[in-house]
Amino acid sequence: MVTFENTREFAVHLDETDPLGKFRERFYIPLHQGKPCIYFAGNSLGLQSKSVQEHVMNDLEDWANFGVEGHVHARIPWIRYNEIFPQKLAPILGAKPAEIVVMNALTVNLHLLLVSFYRPTASRYKIICEAKAFPSDQYALQSQALLHGRDPGEVIIEIAPREGSHILRKEDILSCIREHGAETAVVMIGGVNYYTGQVLDMPSIAAAAHQAGAYCGFDLAHAVGNVPLQLHDWEVDFACWCSYKYLNSGPGAVAGAFVHDKFFRDPTLVRLAGWVGTNKERRFRMDSTFDPIPSAEGWQLSTTQVLNMSAHGAALDLFEEAGFENVVDKMKKLSAYLMFVLDEIGNASPGRVIEIITPRDGNEHGCQVSILLHDRGKAVFDSLKQQGVIVDWREPNVIRLAPVPLYNTYEEVYTAGQILKKIIAS
Ligand SMILES: *Cc1c(COP(=O)(O)O)cnc(C)c1O
Repeated sequence: MVTFENTREFAVHLDETDPLGKFRERFYIPLHQGKPCIYFAGNSLGLQSKSVQEHVMNDLEDWANFGVEGHVHARIPWIRYNEIFPQKLAPILGAKPAEIVVMNALTVNLHLLLVSFYRPTASRYKIICEAKAFPSDQYALQSQALLHGRDPGEVIIEIAPREGSHILRKEDILSCIREHGAETAVVMIGGVNYYTGQVLDMPSIAAAAHQAGAYCGFDLAHAVGNVPLQLHDWEVDFACWCSYKYLNSGPGAVAGAFVHDKFFRDPTLVRLAGWVGTNKERRFRMDSTFDPIPSAEGWQLSTTQVLNMSAHGAALDLFEEAGFENVVDKMKKLSAYLMFVLDEIGNASPGRVIEIITPRDGNEHGCQVSILLHDRGKAVFDSLKQQGVIVDWREPNVIRLAPVPLYNTYEEVYTAGQILKKIIAS
């Protein structure tokens, strides 16, 4: 590993030798007072690549030219539109294409999957999740408990960081699963924590859940396109994600779901069904028997949302071109450099006002570095924004910075550090 230096010269040198450096110009970088801002908010909404507009226009043109015939005659026939995605997502998820389906939105998919995988019985009814999960996940789990006529307070078991810590300990997660194992129906956790950026040990959690006789699912909102995943080999039962964060597919973009192939022909796994999930040969016979497609596609309900998928294809093509393993390599280096720069500033500041709460180990974080500010947090955040550094604020005092490999640079990390340093010193 190279030793980092907190100088512009050093950062520029890293950019010049960066194999992914050329991808930045393929994106629109929002402006701040006429100059590109430093956009470290790709964990909230990824930027638009310049190829998106062409994809969207093609789909609009096909609609104009073909009308209903576009289902069959469009450049990408609408009836099979979502079949282009699993192949592109497979290396990002570590899944077989048949285990991936692109549909709906994240929370919708979480519900659809829980309908299949959360089937409480008198003795096995608990759901284990992380404390302070993203609110949508909390509401989803609570409402699933209510759907089954159960008290969410008795169903949901939360794993919290130890006193004085912000991150979860692996042994605490595993011992919680062991402790509640016999009563646990599902372990459902965020694979990467949205607040701290911590990457959990997903294979160990899946193994522990299975040993306890429970299913294991992950919310991959902050993991997909960010950190390496091997969902199939880890034997994860189900997972869901959104595509507007690290996958750069646009606001409200179509989301995705993963179902392990061992369930494709499992008749005991009930689901909410719709006509697009049924056997493709028989779909248009309009008969009354639901015959699920033996793949993740069998969880689809409704007609493919073509106009909400146009940008997704363009965004995923860039990942394919870059190679996901190269994206991961740069993620490691860029985030390590950000931690180095933040440490330099934090250690030099009076009272050490900056505390990095993201785990240091390169395998335990992705792009995102979360810092806790012990003083004037919101003022620091506002000041960063005024100076064109776009980061994200989380109550009560956390700033999340996420430089992403495809469009951020080492020089931006350096510059953001200098701006932060001045703000803290003032
Ligand atoms: C971003 C995010 C969501 C958002 O859910 P939507 O259904 O896409 O609005 C849910 N869960 C987590 C963990 C997230 O980070």
